[in-house]
Amino acid sequence: MKTVSRPDRTLPGDIDLPRSPAEVLAIVLENAAPLGVEHVALHRAPGRTLAHAATAPEDQPPFAAATMDGFAVIADDGSPWREILADQMAGHVIDVEVTPGTAVRITTGAPMPPGADAVVPVEETDVSEDHVIIGGDPARPGQYIRLPGADARRGDTVVSAGSLLGPAELGLVAGVGLVPVPVSRRPRVTIIATGDELVEPGTVPGPGQIRDSNRFSLLAAARAEGADVRWVGHAPDDAAPLAALLRDRIAADDIVITSGGVSMGERDLVKALLPGLATVHLRRVSMRPGKPFTFATAAVADPGTETGERTTLIFGLPGNPVSALAGFELFIRPAIATMLGRIGWERPRVTVTLGHQIPSGDRTDYPRAIVTVGPDASLSATTTGGQASSRLASWLGANALLVLPPREHPYAAGERIDALLLGPPPGAG
Ligand code: AMP
Ligand code: MG
Repeated sequence: MKTVSRPDRTLPGDIDLPRSPAEVLAIVLENAAPLGVEHVALHRAPGRTLAHAATAPEDQPPFAAATMDGFAVIADDGSPWREILADQMAGHVIDVEVTPGTAVRITTGAPMPPGADAVVPVEETDVSEDHVIIGGDPARPGQYIRLPGADARRGDTVVSAGSLLGPAELGLVAGVGLVPVPVSRRPRVTIIATGDELVEPGTVPGPGQIRDSNRFSLLAAARAEGADVRWVGHAPDDAAPLAALLRDRIAADDIVITSGGVSMGERDLVKALLPGLATVHLRRVSMRPGKPFTFATAAVADPGTETGERTTLIFGLPGNPVSALAGFELFIRPAIATMLGRIGWERPRVTVTLGHQIPSGDRTDYPRAIVTVGPDASLSATTTGGQASSRLASWLGANALLVLPPREHPYAAGERIDALLLGPPPGAG
């Protein structure tokens, strides 16, 4: 595969213009599309995204079945005792008809024998040798019988396309026999950490060096969204090898994520190199953390697709660990979900009451916060300590990003503001 040029592609205005987070998301999603379908065995499908709706090929259950262990009887039968004709076990069909004065011993899930219209649970009976005495209340016609189609009708959608295959979804897919399972192809994602200061985490940093942590937090983030993460190590701030690596990964993968090298420094090479390798759409987003943020796309020849071409998305994240994760959360996560064709991926946006004052700024601020549910079911939020963009601990334990648009005066304690829920809010206790 090689990168093909796209001379007709026009730049959408000034790439250095700071864009609002909503504009950036819109530009990213315009360039993201579902990647296609592949088929996997059921046991390989957990965590994948269902590519086509799963429908019931027949009524579920396909036959009237007992929902209790007991006796299949005629409800109106006034006989004081019934002759036990046979045993009807789940998974078998016997050729016996229930008539007045008779019963068939039946187990849960077994098909109802002809003639019978009710099941009497074994707890309400007395059995003696070849006959059964029905005690308790008289049986109601239809009791303890699950009718055909009670769970799903033939042709019903049981799991929608775009669903994440969790326990219930996978069970339903198996139950309607959708095998092998059509799942969305996962985006191939390469994460490249750049910076001369980086060493592998197993190494003791020398003078001026730090351990590369972004590659691993971004790995965890991308995996959690269902991406197929490729591993290429970290890259020095050295133009020729970095350009070669970027070119290779843009040709091979669906998403290339870089960390570092997109701000205003002399050695911010990702920023300098990308215009030669891709179409750069934007380089700044008006948010905190994470203002330097590059989004680019490249048309790549791909004989595996109908058009013979596909688009690689390139995200240049800043090196500060919190900025990198914020850029992932707000823009890359939605791109991955869109490429997977996933439904229901959006974070719930809720109104919360601020527990303390927060300074405002001239960009949308996304402080990391803990949202809790109060006794009256109202939500309140407190931030997770120092919010410096280098302090990854501010993400630890956070279940929300607060959304604080730019304004003059600070956000006050008790004010009602928006929050994006990253996880379920615990009770305040
Ligand atoms: P940069 O965006 O390259 O200007 O880097 C901004 C800050 O993030 C600097 O303090 C870097 O040392 C730090 N940084 C860059 N890359 C990483 C990384 N992979 N892991 C942890 N910190 C990083
Ligand atoms: Mg750097």
